[in-house]
Amino acid sequence: MSDFSVERKHFLSYSRQAPEQFQQPQVFSLTNGTQVHVHAPGIIEFIPVCYRQGAGRHVLYSCGVHGNETAPIEICDEIVEAILSKTVVINTRLMVQFANLPAMDIAERFVQENMNRLFTGAHEPQTNDERKRAQQLEFYTQTFFANANDKSHCFHYDLHTAIRDSAYPRFAVYPFKHGNKYSFSQLEWLAQAGIDAVLLSESPTTTYSYFSSRDCGVHSFTVELGKVKPFGENNMADFSLARSALFRLILPLDQAQPFAEEVSEQRAKQPNLPVLFRINQSIIRSEQHFSLHFSDDTPNFTSFNQGEVLASECNEQGQTINEFIAQQDDEAIVFPNAKVAIGQRALLTVVPVTIKDLTIDV
Ligand SMILES: [Zn+2]
Repeated sequence: MSDFSVERKHFLSYSRQAPEQFQQPQVFSLTNGTQVHVHAPGIIEFIPVCYRQGAGRHVLYSCGVHGNETAPIEICDEIVEAILSKTVVINTRLMVQFANLPAMDIAERFVQENMNRLFTGAHEPQTNDERKRAQQLEFYTQTFFANANDKSHCFHYDLHTAIRDSAYPRFAVYPFKHGNKYSFSQLEWLAQAGIDAVLLSESPTTTYSYFSSRDCGVHSFTVELGKVKPFGENNMADFSLARSALFRLILPLDQAQPFAEEVSEQRAKQPNLPVLFRINQSIIRSEQHFSLHFSDDTPNFTSFNQGEVLASECNEQGQTINEFIAQQDDEAIVFPNAKVAIGQRALLTVVPVTIKDLTIDV
């Protein structure tokens, strides 16, 4: 069996092509002193020389929870390889997770099941590989953050790209806080990372970011970096602010500088905070005949005026029995999907809020 620490190969390719090589955890040090822990295929942790048990920042980047969302996978891959090849030397404890490796191999969102509905225990019963993987990711995430002294210095960014166009191409979902305060500095960081809008979730979910927010108590976001494209076809300029921010978070100032300069002009144009939205309506499909009243390719965050019909349902006789209507001006739609199973959410509507409407912390 070849040893990854000695005969170093490309971590992501190796994880995808020879996952059995990582069934046993591997620990080794780079010649610059950075410690490397390969916990499992696609799950790697780096501990900088300056690390003192539990102190400082603890950062988790996850990507590929949806296997065809390539841009974040490419950025995370670049970060891992830059550390392993000693091009950069981190000063922050970092874990990178490439979540759904088999889905990447077939260039699909998932193999059997949407993994981003399988967290906070929704992976039970363990009937397929995606459920097993979700549980494994939860385990390593929980263990990783359990070692941190101060949860306010812990960050998880679950990186995605969206399926549809969006009036705000880059947006984040802030998991439900259960009445806890929102972080002003995190909203600022997201703006610096090029995030145009933040959607405040208002109920528990089974997403990965909700898991780390709720069960690990850390700053956590689902971050949509743009639109899905195949591997190698992403225009990385679209992602440069996010890439730069993700590098800068884990590097000492002198090394982070080049990543800052690269995008300084773009950053200067960014507003200080993303536009904020809260969820207004969660529209559930309850009938066989459910239809949306806008075209299939309508971008996320397209807004409607009060009284406009967004969706409706008919009975077997074709009579309209439910109409879903915009309740106020500037009510926008996100994540529409008329084809969900009966009883599932077909559409969310969101309305703008201001920072003054939130209970906010530093
Ligand atoms: Zn996704």
